[in-house]
Amino acid sequence: MKEINRFNLNAIVILFLFSILMLNCDKNEDPFVPNDGIFQVSTIDALNMGQFEGLMRFDNLLTKGDFGLGTFEAIDGEMVMLDGIAYQITVDGNVSIVDNMALTSFATVKSFSLDDSVSLNSLKDLAALETLIDTKIANKNEFYAVRVQAVFDSLIVRSVPRQQIPFPSLAEVVRQQVTYKHTNLAGTMVGFRMPAFIAGVNVPGYHFHFISNDRSIGGHLLACAVRSGLAQWDRTDDLQLSLGQ
Ligand SMILES: [Zn+2]
Repeated sequence: MKEINRFNLNAIVILFLFSILMLNCDKNEDPFVPNDGIFQVSTIDALNMGQFEGLMRFDNLLTKGDFGLGTFEAIDGEMVMLDGIAYQITVDGNVSIVDNMALTSFATVKSFSLDDSVSLNSLKDLAALETLIDTKIANKNEFYAVRVQAVFDSLIVRSVPRQQIPFPSLAEVVRQQVTYKHTNLAGTMVGFRMPAFIAGVNVPGYHFHFISNDRSIGGHLLACAVRSGLAQWDRTDDLQLSLGQ
């Protein structure tokens, strides 16, 4: 934990110095805000190994960002955060607003501020969407929050059941997933694109959750075909990691 604390302290000092530097710069030259970072609770490897204990309350998490994804204590479903509201999608497919006192065991959030976008038309699958965004983003070694507002010809989401102690591995939980296929649906994909070097800490490449415009359908996104829409992203080179209570 001491290494983590020192890392955080160094990061804070660097951010402070950089903030002073930025006061002397013309901020209009680049909409990119370097100290506008991603906040993450736990790591994907901790989750893979069955660390499903709750680490942070949602009222605290909601002060760290207005956009993101994650899960809950005991992996009780999938979490989507959009426009400052956190939603829980339980294994039965039910969508509800997360209680402030609920706990997350893993989350990645950011205050979304638009850097760039591309319009979308007739993308046959998720790979086609990801390939298109990949051709537009500037630096694949940075972190991107990615928001896709679209009408989908089809879409498959999943959720997972709440687990009991002793917790199994995440792979075992995923074997218990329940998938839902929908057609002709409008909604928002909420996710991140992470660089390859982040493996173990977060998910390299794209990771999306979804919530419909009417907030009745959601989950971890497994597949989609886009009819039309808009992909927007917000890049950052800063990631703050919280590993404890
Ligand atoms: Zn997910």
